[in-house]
Amino acid sequence: MTDLPQTPPVLGFADLGLDPRLLAVLADLGYEEPTPIQREAIPVLVTGRDLVGQAATGTGKTAAFALPILGALRADGANIEGPGPHALVLVPTRELAVQVAEALHRYGKALGVSVLPVYGGQAISQQLRALHRGVDIVVATPGRAVDHLKRGSLVLEGVRTVVLDEADEMLDMGFAEDLEAILSTTPATRQTVLFSATLAPRVAALAKRHLREPVTIDVQREAAVAGEMPRVPQVGYLVQRAHKLNALGRILDMEPPGSAIVFCRTRTEVDTLTEALNARGYRAEALHGGLSQEQRDRVMRRFRDETTDLLVATDVAARGLDIEHVSHVINYDVPVSPEVYLHRIGRTGRAGRAGMAITLAEPRERRLLRNIEHFTGQRIEPATVPTVADLRARQMQQTRAAVEEALEEGDFDAFRVIVDALSDGYDVMDIAAAAVKLAHAAQAGAGDAEEIPAAMMREPYAPPSGRGPGRPRGDDRPARGGGFGGGTGGSFSSGGSAGGRGRRGTTPWQVARIFIGAGRTAGVRPADLVGAIANEAGVSPRLIGAIEIADRFAIVEVPDEIAASVVTALSAATIRGRRVEVRLEG
Ligand code: AMP
Repeated sequence: MTDLPQTPPVLGFADLGLDPRLLAVLADLGYEEPTPIQREAIPVLVTGRDLVGQAATGTGKTAAFALPILGALRADGANIEGPGPHALVLVPTRELAVQVAEALHRYGKALGVSVLPVYGGQAISQQLRALHRGVDIVVATPGRAVDHLKRGSLVLEGVRTVVLDEADEMLDMGFAEDLEAILSTTPATRQTVLFSATLAPRVAALAKRHLREPVTIDVQREAAVAGEMPRVPQVGYLVQRAHKLNALGRILDMEPPGSAIVFCRTRTEVDTLTEALNARGYRAEALHGGLSQEQRDRVMRRFRDETTDLLVATDVAARGLDIEHVSHVINYDVPVSPEVYLHRIGRTGRAGRAGMAITLAEPRERRLLRNIEHFTGQRIEPATVPTVADLRARQMQQTRAAVEEALEEGDFDAFRVIVDALSDGYDVMDIAAAAVKLAHAAQAGAGDAEEIPAAMMREPYAPPSGRGPGRPRGDDRPARGGGFGGGTGGSFSSGGSAGGRGRRGTTPWQVARIFIGAGRTAGVRPADLVGAIANEAGVSPRLIGAIEIADRFAIVEVPDEIAASVVTALSAATIRGRRVEVRLEG
């Protein structure tokens, strides 16, 4: 008898040591299996060890730290004494504070855990009241956390776990001193978790100073082997979450796929998207782990015999599917790892047929696309969502092609009678145009007429479009053989961390100088300005150039193209609690 080769078991959420109540929450949310960072980080964190995790947004890192924190707070028999907060999560921006707090709330609701986001720009009185009432977990931006520490409204003596999320961003934004101040008021026995997209020397130094024998996890893989490389064209669209469905519709209408698999991350997303696509007139069916074998077989039969055009699926459900005729793989969500990406897109372009891989990414997931490009050594061509005019032009083309086809086919004697009769009173050209108009209306339908805003501006790694920029500053390598130059003015694979204030290299775009009427005397620090610009104007810290702070004013450099909107946003905001004069410096 010979031993059968053993494949290592794939770990599910149930194998990671999590509280059973959390497992129920995850099933409810439609998470079918842990992402790579969750698989590696959760078992370490539940034992209470410190951890350094290299992972970008979109890899599932929030749940990777949130679930163990929640489990520890509400473990059966756990007796957490003293007032909260018992966990503190530090994040670089207000947007992230809200997002992480929402995720903690979503995962922890069933356990009765209370979460409070604390960030600059929100009325401090409201935060004071909430902190006074007591809360289990605080998610804070460093500047505002320091303000509360000084006021005595935030007391961190009871904190058991501190998470430094997006540590590289926090350092880039000039929060190093604040982080030191905050950590020094937490118990030395705490568990410390650091997540960062890069492990630049400054991040490593921070980890070395504050973490105790951390386990280090890096889910960014080496490049894939050549034999596994995709052989199909790959394109990527950057779209805000709110516009994704419209964007997908537009893309499908421009280039109707023969039959496509549309991948989503969760079961819930699969159901929602399938319903939405059907409501818009596409023939879509859902495939996920919640279906019975019989339902699954039926869905697959209908996809194979082409009754269904779009198969909307989770990764788990699509695993092991053997389908030959997939013309397009569409990633409605960016896959959580490059391996998953390769696996997904390996389903199109099989057996020498043409294929196409399309990925929709939210701007904050751009780094994931870059990681994928590094992994495959191939580029994902950035594309812009077709405009209403593009779609109209395409529909006209299709109508023309349909009329040409009818002309080729002939056999319209029965209709000549109508043309004959009409030609007594109307010009023949007009009659033909009216008939084409009717055919067009029947074929094209009403269509959506709303433009989908481009999501390239103001995001990390993308210089403002148009004049000037070659590429953003940065030290990350571009993908092998790749990156793209031109068109929309950015690449998924160029750019990267810009380093701290004052260490910037040459600026690759036209800069404008913004005058801010408060300076050192008012306690203004670079971090306040970066925070205000990032939070109020939605500008990535990486786009902010040199900052000079004088006694009574400050000057900040930003790309020329976004200067006016930064001035408008800052004029309406407060800096160190005060409204100040903000204007373009001539
Ligand atoms: P994050 O990297 O933490 O920002 O997470 C990115 C997205 O992935 C969020 O929308 C999560 O809801 C989702 N997500 C996290 N973990 C999983 C999982 N195991 N399965 C499916 N979706 C997940």
